[in-house]
Amino acid sequence: MTDAIAHHPTDETLAAFASGTLDEARGLVVSMHLSLCAACSRKVEGYEAIGGELLEQATPLSMEPGALRNVLRLIEEDFAAPETGPKQPLDRYQLGPWRWVGPGVRQRSVSVPEVSNIKVFMLKAAPGTRLPYHRHAGYEWTCVLEGAFEHQFGRYGPGDFDEADETMEHKPTVCDGDPCICIVALQGNIVLQSRLGRIIQPLLRL
Ligand SMILES: [Zn+2]
Repeated sequence: MTDAIAHHPTDETLAAFASGTLDEARGLVVSMHLSLCAACSRKVEGYEAIGGELLEQATPLSMEPGALRNVLRLIEEDFAAPETGPKQPLDRYQLGPWRWVGPGVRQRSVSVPEVSNIKVFMLKAAPGTRLPYHRHAGYEWTCVLEGAFEHQFGRYGPGDFDEADETMEHKPTVCDGDPCICIVALQGNIVLQSRLGRIIQPLLRL
């Protein structure tokens, strides 16, 4: 755990995570943040407690056979070993090999089943790399694992969480020091703004 995290998911996002309404791709990126951020983990526990209270007060409905067992299994998977380190949420997914996607930039796939055109991948970019100015056709949720990048909304280091949507344009630059490794859930394609960007876009499998 670190107390240097400056950028967190919104309360709305944490509540959605706690109630299980996020898709798996975004849920994984939030889980990675939670594994590094004690403050947000406590908030999620709070939301879950409230959810439990509401369930207790609700009129009982008949559940599908096995529903309770499934829920207990999910809880066990999520909370069985919180001390196993920051990458624990990734353990249940297969990672592809690092592949070159552009100068100084490599990407590896994370085997989250693709839903509604959402991809999950890890990105590793060398210090000083300027990622092309781009905007999004959908959302892009990022959790930094190592190194740091910055854009007009600040500096994002290990544990920091960045939520961008189709209303934002940004041009991240990787900070000096270590390569920056992030996990990203990306919906739709990114739209590169520069002429060079449009030329290289077909090469970038982003
Ligand atoms: Zn947090």
